[in-house]
Amino acid sequence: MHYHILLSETCNSECRYCYKKSLEEFDNGLDKKFKFDFSSPEDSIVDVKKLKKFLEKDKNAVLIFYGGEPLLRIDKIKEIMDAIDVPFRMQTNAKLIDKLPKEYVNRITKLLVSLDGSCERTDYNRGEGTYDRVMENIRLIKKNGYNGEIVARMTISQENPDLYEQVVSLIRAGFDSVHWQIDAGFFKFDYNKEKFSKFADEYNKSVSKLIDYWINGMKKGKVLKLYPFLAIIDSLIKNEKTKLRCGAGYAGYAISTDGKVVACPIMNCIEDFCAGNLDSDPGKLKKFDVSGDCTNCKYLDLCGGRCLYWNQAQLWPKEGNDLICSTIKHLIDELKAKLPEINSLIKEGKISKQQFEYEKYFGPEIIP
Ligand code: SF4
Ligand code: SF4
Repeated sequence: MHYHILLSETCNSECRYCYKKSLEEFDNGLDKKFKFDFSSPEDSIVDVKKLKKFLEKDKNAVLIFYGGEPLLRIDKIKEIMDAIDVPFRMQTNAKLIDKLPKEYVNRITKLLVSLDGSCERTDYNRGEGTYDRVMENIRLIKKNGYNGEIVARMTISQENPDLYEQVVSLIRAGFDSVHWQIDAGFFKFDYNKEKFSKFADEYNKSVSKLIDYWINGMKKGKVLKLYPFLAIIDSLIKNEKTKLRCGAGYAGYAISTDGKVVACPIMNCIEDFCAGNLDSDPGKLKKFDVSGDCTNCKYLDLCGGRCLYWNQAQLWPKEGNDLICSTIKHLIDELKAKLPEINSLIKEGKISKQQFEYEKYFGPEIIP
């Protein structure tokens, strides 16, 4: 199983769609729907011996350093890595990765680095100078021997639907792996029907253009790890059904700063989604699944339900959630339509089925 460990709830960035939006959302009404527990401390006080014992009970354990910003707790990262031997991953803004000694960085064999596309777009969302600093740090870790996967993890904001341009910009900057998520449905106040309908139209066109670009690369033997495309095509090739693709609440859990085990990192204060603690048997953690409209949706077996938090919180009205789903359906339909072409490329030997395989649940949520 994959476990996100929340090392710190604080962050050294003040991004537009996270920090700034949280300041605007005074009351999303969730306190009437769920029971909250804000008693966990800002920084992880998890006992590493206990964590080790817990992970030893799961022979497939993978640990993902997560925050806030996990690199604000380099002390804890080192303590954990010195004591525990499991595969490590990290989701980070990478601004401080130059401060983590290379023998630790090089053991974290998959990194999800927050970048939103071009320098201009990243700096607009994440603050002046962010892009250059992150790229410089990436160059440094590579120079220091890092040869793991680096996934550029983008947020697509509702004001900027130009996915194609931003993903291509990241590919040109040297990324073979990209994941994106649409910032929609996670705050109550930011829904506007007209604005989001316009976004969805433009975004869908951009998705189609990016799929064509992706397939053109395949004709030259390259399958870029554009995770939302890769995972769906992998399922279509294998004729495989999926559950929630991020794995939250059944294949992946989060360990809160005080050692509670919860369905997903962003639900760490909601008691309703607590699955156990570090004394629990990982095999017996409480399981969660999506409900409501997803259960009757004919796309469920390929979509999986987008996001457990979004599905359960229902912060946007139904018409807004339907608009989000229209983008998911468009993505799936477009990829399905390209499957015969992809299968032909596989048959011709230009690419192989194995190029679509990937490690599930380590971070990319897959469905944007
Ligand atoms: S398309 Fe929407 S309703 Fe259908 S399974 Fe996905 S998230 Fe659920
Ligand atoms: S997609 Fe949603 S449920 Fe899954 S890990 Fe992300 S926030 Fe949690």
